[in-house]
Amino acid sequence: MRSDPQDGVRPRWPRPDVEFGHRLCRAYETYLMLHRNPQLSFEWAWNLLQCISYNDELYLAHCSHCTAFYVQDAYALDKGICPVCEIASGLH
Ligand SMILES: [Zn+2]
Repeated sequence: MRSDPQDGVRPRWPRPDVEFGHRLCRAYETYLMLHRNPQLSFEWAWNLLQCISYNDELYLAHCSHCTAFYVQDAYALDKGICPVCEIASGLH
């Protein structure tokens, strides 16, 4: 996926194909290698990708402190900072 200047997410493969599936599997395997106790199943990762790609209830927001992207609920108050910066600043 690719983000646009308005923080909207656009799929790089409008019609998922074998390459799309292969890249998703590699991304999930990388996630598993980076987390000792992974909380996200492959099915949830797939659903999360689909939800973010719709730019509807969930979207990728841009942190004003560290410039990282984070998943934001469109119906929740967005403070403009990612959860890591929020915890580090003591604002939560
Ligand atoms: Zn941040």
